[in-house]
Amino acid sequence: MAERNLVPIFDGHNDILYKLHYADEADKVSLFTEGSPNDWHIDLPRAKQGGFAGGMFAVFAPSADIPTEALIENAASVFAIDEPLPAALSMDDAHRTTVAMASILFELDRAGAIALCRSAADIRAARDRNTIAAVFHIEGAEAIDRDLRFLETLYGLGLRSIGPVWSRPNIFGHGVPFRYPSSPDTGPGLTDAGNDLVRACNDKKILIDLSHLNERGFRDVAALSDAPLIATHSNVHRICPHARNLTDWQLGAIRDTRGLVGLNFETTFLRSAPDDLSVPDAEVLLRHMDALILELGEDGVGIGSDFDGATVPELIGDASGLQRLLNVFRDHGYGEDLIEKIAWRNWLSVIERTIG
Ligand SMILES: [Zn+2]
Repeated sequence: MAERNLVPIFDGHNDILYKLHYADEADKVSLFTEGSPNDWHIDLPRAKQGGFAGGMFAVFAPSADIPTEALIENAASVFAIDEPLPAALSMDDAHRTTVAMASILFELDRAGAIALCRSAADIRAARDRNTIAAVFHIEGAEAIDRDLRFLETLYGLGLRSIGPVWSRPNIFGHGVPFRYPSSPDTGPGLTDAGNDLVRACNDKKILIDLSHLNERGFRDVAALSDAPLIATHSNVHRICPHARNLTDWQLGAIRDTRGLVGLNFETTFLRSAPDDLSVPDAEVLLRHMDALILELGEDGVGIGSDFDGATVPELIGDASGLQRLLNVFRDHGYGEDLIEKIAWRNWLSVIERTIG
């Protein structure tokens, strides 16, 4: 789908399925292919314009205690700067929304608007056909039972990536709160069920996303998992001390496994002080990307937009503005080889080494 002369981008995280699920329109395919509301971030026209060629498509079951309308309006602003973790989500609620949002992914695939991909080879084939490559991801594993039977079902349907927790507790572990300033060391690590989930993901070659996990849970995955450590949409804690960002130790652990971090566009995870708007967007984004490259090397960085779940810097705006970010990298002195790695090749490499 990418137009000529655009550098194709694979993106580590978006929440468009969530937006489509809660939209009033019954025809989700048309909403995606013909154009979504102005304040959304991804649809087919915007993807073409910006070179958005693929990504992890998240299924996210919201907590019952978070007002859905507010979440749709602006995911980040729902959370005060020192908010306790949202309450645990019931399996019934999680099932209902997980199945419904996944159905939209399959509908988009069947309509040819995206291509559901189960491997790096599938992603490359989708790119060759000019179709958006979508990897089925769940953000928060609340729909999965203790015996992991539903994991088997989801895997059969094409699931290849899991964030064991969102920013709340579940039977597998504990997420980090939306808290600033705060260390990510905010609670206990993985449960026995969480350890079983990690082993099962290793066995099945399902990617484990560490982005919403607290630090002890992260340590548990690092000790147990035989896969590269991956945070699909997180930034640098040393620059922005938000609980959702990664400490130097965490970045080092990711580097040691030849893992990857996707740069998150959410402004409250980017800006050193959330209310200080004096630093230009380009500089804010570059500080994190420079630091990620320094800590992880040129092969350990990618994009993790959080489109349709984040407040995005004006410089980028939405998926149509992705090449502007690459131009910022270019103007800063990154070479074309590094830009292509950040945009596409690093994600493809770590996906190939993780899910095949
Ligand atoms: Zn997220």
